[in-house]
Amino acid sequence: MNILALRYGDDIIVVDAGMMFPEDELLGVDIVTPDLTYLVENRDCVRGLIVTHGHEDHIGAVPFFLAELNVPVYGTAFTLALVSRRLEEHDLPEVKLRTVKPRQVVELGPFKIEFIHVTHSIVSAVSLAITTPLGVVIHTGDFKVDPTPTDNELFDLHTFAEYGKRGVLLLLSDSTNSDRPGHTGSERAVRPRLEEVFSQADGRVIISCFSSSIHRIQQVIDLAREYGRKVALLGRSMIQVTEIAHSLGLLEIPDGILMRPQDIQSTNKRKTAVLVSGTQGEPMSALSRVAVDNHKSLSIDPGDTVALSSRIIPGNERGIFRMVDHLERRGADVMYGSMNPPLHVSGHASAEELRLMLNLVRPRYFMPIHGEYRQLAKHARLAEHLRHVGLEEIFILDAGDTLELDHHGARKAGRVTVGRICIDSGSVDDVVEDLVIRDRKHLSEDGIVLPIIAINKHTGRSETLPEIVTRGFAAAEDGSELLQAARQVVARTLENSSTEEMTDWGVMKEKVRSDLKRFIAKQTSRRPLIMPVILEV
Ligand SMILES: [Zn+2]
Ligand SMILES: [Zn+2]
Repeated sequence: MNILALRYGDDIIVVDAGMMFPEDELLGVDIVTPDLTYLVENRDCVRGLIVTHGHEDHIGAVPFFLAELNVPVYGTAFTLALVSRRLEEHDLPEVKLRTVKPRQVVELGPFKIEFIHVTHSIVSAVSLAITTPLGVVIHTGDFKVDPTPTDNELFDLHTFAEYGKRGVLLLLSDSTNSDRPGHTGSERAVRPRLEEVFSQADGRVIISCFSSSIHRIQQVIDLAREYGRKVALLGRSMIQVTEIAHSLGLLEIPDGILMRPQDIQSTNKRKTAVLVSGTQGEPMSALSRVAVDNHKSLSIDPGDTVALSSRIIPGNERGIFRMVDHLERRGADVMYGSMNPPLHVSGHASAEELRLMLNLVRPRYFMPIHGEYRQLAKHARLAEHLRHVGLEEIFILDAGDTLELDHHGARKAGRVTVGRICIDSGSVDDVVEDLVIRDRKHLSEDGIVLPIIAINKHTGRSETLPEIVTRGFAAAEDGSELLQAARQVVARTLENSSTEEMTDWGVMKEKVRSDLKRFIAKQTSRRPLIMPVILEV
């Protein structure tokens, strides 16, 4: 989950605090964040949190981090704006956000941290050069070397080279794509494919990408202008993040190009482009709702083109393909996955770029970070040739391992507590009032609630009142009034769902879960784990 602590004596700084979305087996959990036990036990030593860029896997746990450790947070303006957006959902006392610019140096205890501009799939990403009493530690964060970024902010190779010349003790570098040969494409590499979509579409052009992909959004807006289409933004994150980027001067939006979502249906389809969030088929996202014709602003018509400008993240295939099926059923031409020219490019450096970084920095010690073990191992192999120019050792660490450096050298040292904390934070479109950690303690206090829904396989509808089974949910005895009312809540959710939604069990489970959760929280102030079960009878 991308969190790293650097300690010198009694001073600790922390780099990034990410989260991840749960795998399928963690039913009912919204997000997973890192266990902060080590930092909490050493709270008097923690001087600050530094965030390299605004991706969820680097900032998603910041609110949880600050709830435990209220230290200043350092990052670029855009990154901190995305942090603030996350913080709004949490009720935290005053938070100290400190905006930095590339080339700026911040001193925290014995650490002097210089921020170095790098290119990545998100704008305003930085690497860190951290000068310590023992030498310089460089942490690249996520990067690729994009020679033509859409914001024209070039990768600051020069500063890395300067540090390399003066001598670097330890390099920590992004390994995500170390198993890909060659160079990763520029963000501009998607333009030919997007241009083809714009030049050939007969109906609406609907493009979905991550809301943080400002490079991608800029190119869609530019093409829309060139092809005489207005742009509507759909999805809360798409609207908020473009607004943030625009207000910081990172996204150019020509006057008059935006249209309101409520005007989509009444506007000429050939004059309409839509940027929508939800590329991963997340059940409650805007695009998933459009796919089952349950979005108030957009109904797909035959002839519309939908392009998913993102990677299909492993584990999400089922949700994505189900969504694509729904869109195709409504007559949309859906483009997704890898194609040539590409609809999507990675944000991470391939082997040649990683080699360039290693050659510029020429560290004494090297530690590949970010990626699975195989990618760390491949990255380690890429660094072998540096042994002729001063590289002494390469360390591959597991989560929880520590690396110790002193005047004698570097070595793996003891382990610290790590792990994952599962958080059930209210449904996606719900305001989170009270964050609840759903670990064993939570389960033992609030129990578990299983709504059991029987769907008739001929009619596709639920024809009997849903059953609800509970375990350890003290607020309701079997047959109690509360449970009877809860059954009605579930029944209403089912009644208010379209036949098409009813075929999509992922969507149905999420709807039932969020409605029932809201009801139970209101009635009992409890937040049991709710796991809907759907059976075909
Ligand atoms: Zn990233
Ligand atoms: Zn990352």
